[in-house]
Amino acid sequence: MSPIVVVGAGLAGLACAQRLVAAGREVVVVEASDAVGGRVRTDLVDGFRCDRGFQLINPAYPALPRVVDVDQLDLRSFGAGVVVATEQGRSVLADPRRLPRLLPATLRSPVGSLRERLAFVRWALSSLLPVRRQLAGPDRTLAEALDRAGIRGELRTAVLEPFLAGVLADWDGTTSATFARLLLRSFLLGSPAVPSTGISRLPELLAASLPTGTIRLETPAVEVGARSVRTADEEIQAEAVVVAASPRAAADLTDIPVPATRSLTTFWHTAPRAPSSARLLHLDGARRGPLVNTAVMTNVAPGYAPPGRVLIASSTVGADGSVEAEGTVRRQAGQVYGVDTDDWELVTRHVINEALPHQPPPLIIRRASRLPSGVFVAGDHRDTASIQGALVSGRRAADAITG
Ligand SMILES: Cc1cc2nc3c(=O)[nH]c(=O)nc-3n(C[C@H](O)[C@H](O)[C@H](O)COP(=O)(O)OP(=O)(O)OC[C@H]3O[C@@H](n4cnc5c(N)ncnc54)[C@H](O)[C@@H]3O)c2cc1C
Repeated sequence: MSPIVVVGAGLAGLACAQRLVAAGREVVVVEASDAVGGRVRTDLVDGFRCDRGFQLINPAYPALPRVVDVDQLDLRSFGAGVVVATEQGRSVLADPRRLPRLLPATLRSPVGSLRERLAFVRWALSSLLPVRRQLAGPDRTLAEALDRAGIRGELRTAVLEPFLAGVLADWDGTTSATFARLLLRSFLLGSPAVPSTGISRLPELLAASLPTGTIRLETPAVEVGARSVRTADEEIQAEAVVVAASPRAAADLTDIPVPATRSLTTFWHTAPRAPSSARLLHLDGARRGPLVNTAVMTNVAPGYAPPGRVLIASSTVGADGSVEAEGTVRRQAGQVYGVDTDDWELVTRHVINEALPHQPPPLIIRRASRLPSGVFVAGDHRDTASIQGALVSGRRAADAITG
């Protein structure tokens, strides 16, 4: 019997392979690059662990405990709030349920009128409605939804828009409001975190759950059919083929249209001293430049740096990793933290061109796994643009094969 061939060892491909193996199927995963993980990888640079773009795992993602033992991720959580820097200074806005000690500081923050804050709470709470109900309701752009909800002041421009820009790679508010609410829901239900040894721990655990020899690295698929995959060296006959490649590669290999994607860039710096002791994301509410968020990673996960060293992640929307952009972002981070950043050193930078599929309204999730050609397809572009979306789409493709 021929194996089922999965193209791509990102989260979708690995989750698909894991489910197929659990169903007793023989599986081969062909992966173009030199390691598993796809967009979820960590580079070790001079002892610093730099994820390929700042990204967080939300333990509230329902798919997560279905694919790994979450304890083995050894998650280190960010605090449930943000520090917002405006021209008037820095203030904290935190979820009072999870960080009650920051309630007085949150109430003192000058950012956002009481009216706007209440409008936000109403909107945020609507994200806790059953997911099915949210998906059945009307969808519109995020910008329209915020307008309609009455979130039109500084809370929006200084906090929500920069925060969501980092999460959605969207500065123009054209993303589906339903998708933004689903993400907000996961932020309200869980505290986003990173594994103590880097984000790549997640795909590594998934890969370790597969039989030895299942994954063939540095083996790009060049052509696929419903029953075969051609690589540079061979033609593999297959019982079924799942294309779990990145969005553009998936479109090249199959007949799906090229999914629109957005880019993100992260600069990783080290500094003689941590510019803040908070385990919180920092936002530039004054929007003084391209930086959308910055965080002292070693406050959250000290293992991201050699002992006693500091690692800071600063991210922008877009794909500008130039020397000029680095200088601009470093100076802007200095304004956000209120410190001089001349003595910061760049550890590395990650420009991720296809960081996230764009998801305009109406949000279409659970796209069919089986294409008319008989090839199966999986990936975040077939569900939601997230770790959760990649995992469920991979598992769904496996179920479509095994019936
Ligand atoms: C900077 C950044 C920040 C993010 N932040 C978050 C976050 O905070 N929270 C969240 O939930 N999600 C986040 N995401 C999104 C999340 O990482 C992705 O949704 C998810 O990893 C996508 O997985 P995938 O398996 O669908 O695709 P990919 O990870 O792209 O995997 C596709 C795999 O296919 C391989 N491949 C491509 N072509 C071929 C070929 N011809 N043959 C064989 N293999 C091939 C690729 O090498 C790759 O390994 C972020 C993403 C980025 C880039």
